Order: sequence, then structure tokens, then C-alpha cells
Amino acid sequence: THFGFKTVPEAAKETLVRGVFSSVASRYDVMNDAMSLGIHRLWKDHFIRTMAPAPGARLLDVAGGTGDIAQRFLDYQDTVNGDSQASVHMVDINPDMLREGEQRFAGSRWLQQERIGFTVGNAERLDFVEDNSFDVYSIAFGIRNCTHPDRVVREAFRVLKPGGRFMCLEFSRVTNPLLAAAYDLHSFYVIPRLGEAIAGDRASYEYLVESIRRFPPQDEFAQIIRDAGFTTIGCGYENLTFGTVAIHSGYKF
Ligand code: SAM
Repeated sequence: THFGFKTVPEAAKETLVRGVFSSVASRYDVMNDAMSLGIHRLWKDHFIRTMAPAPGARLLDVAGGTGDIAQRFLDYQDTVNGDSQASVHMVDINPDMLREGEQRFAGSRWLQQERIGFTVGNAERLDFVEDNSFDVYSIAFGIRNCTHPDRVVREAFRVLKPGGRFMCLEFSRVTNPLLAAAYDLHSFYVIPRLGEAIAGDRASYEYLVESIRRFPPQDEFAQIIRDAGFTTIGCGYENLTFGTVAIHSGYKF
């Protein structure tokens, strides 16, 4: 165990994750660009194109953070669908991250039209969300930080309307061994050092790398989604950038 957090008990994970994101909140966007060379923007664009939300859709964006998914969803509704009814509700466990998200939409037309909302909450217990109430559920780079991903997916199933769609964008497994070796170098050498250099916070970025390695691989996660009641199409996921990240999706029928 070369990283201290490996010994952190499960129950403490929520507290740990809260600390990590509070400490990175204000530099979060800059760091995303630095560590992924800007590629996270393309992944998120592709995620929304894959979602292809219908006009008027209600999206619940869980672990919404600084609002990258919410922003892209509303942009898509405006520009592709020419729609002015669709709305998104962002949930995040961390008030500091959610505040960054709120600031991003401050003064926006979407806020004035009450088409964007924010709630601090845990993805595992969305008590404040009614059953069968959203058309689409999204969680981007959030579920691996949750203590019980299976509970997160079950909550998603509960809050989606029949016919609704669960969509997850998350780091996954690079399968090609040569690329996997290069990716490991990036993870263990480049990312913690970048975290240190840009954010002065090596430990948080070591945590991020560790959380990626511990999250179940593509097929295992697809099974968790089916176990929660969702119907998947084909294998249930699409790999992006050699499996660095994957989009998992399922329908509530
Ligand atoms: N979705 C945004 C994006 O793609 O840029 C933010 C991703 S950020 C890497 C992960 C977010 O998950 C953080 O804002 C963190 O506070 C949130 N988070 C972690 N655990 C959570 C939980 N149990 N419930 C809700 N949000 C959680």
C-alpha cells in the first residue's frame, strides 16, 4: 500500500472524498484540462451527443460538480433541439463544488427561467427526489467516488420515469497492455506531480488515481447496472480513448 488512503475504512470514504473535493474545488476546472490535456471536454461533448436528450427532457445530473454536464445539456437543448423547456437539476455532496456550479449559472437565462436547480446531497440517498420523476439521469466522473456504487445505481432507477435513461461517464480500464503501461506512468508520475505543481496538493490527486484503479472494469459495472433493474443495449457501454473512460447506459423499462 504505497498510498495512505488504502487503509481508510469504507465508512470514512465519504469524509475523505468531501475533503478532497473541497480542497480542489476552485482549481478543479484548470486541473481537469491539465491532466487530460483538454480531452475531458471531448468526452463530455460525446456524452451529451450519445444522450441525445429529447426536447423538454428533465435531467438529474448527480455529482454535478462545477456544472460541465448541465451546461452542455442546456446548450444542446438550445442549439440542437431549439428547445426552451428542458431543465436540469444538479446534485452534489460537496457544497464547495456545487457553489462553483451555481456561480457558473449566476445571471444566466436558464437560472431566470428556473430551468436549473441545485441541491447538496448524496447520490446514494436522493430522499429529496420523487420516484419516477426524471427523464434522464447522468453521473460523470462521480460514481467511483461513492462508497456503494450499487446503491447509487438503484437510486437512479427509482428516480427515473419508466422509459428513462441512466447514463454514466467514468474512468475505466485500458485493455491494450502497452497503452495500459503508458497510462500507469501518466497516473503514477504525471498526475500527482501536476497536482503538486498546479494545486499544491499531491495527496488529493493520488486519491483520484487510486479511486480510478479501484473502480470495477467495464463489464462488471455493466452487470451492476443490470442488477439494479436497467435494460442495457448490447454490452451496455462504449469505450472512449482506448477505455481510459467509458459511457455506460441503461433504460428503465
Ligand atoms: N460531473 C462533474 C464533471 O464531470 O466535471 C464533476 C466531477 S468531480 C470529478 C466528482 C464530483 O462528485 C465532486 O463534485 C464530488 O463532490 C462529487 N461526489 C463525490 N461523492 C459523491 C456522492 N456520494 N454523492 C454526490 N456527489 C458526490
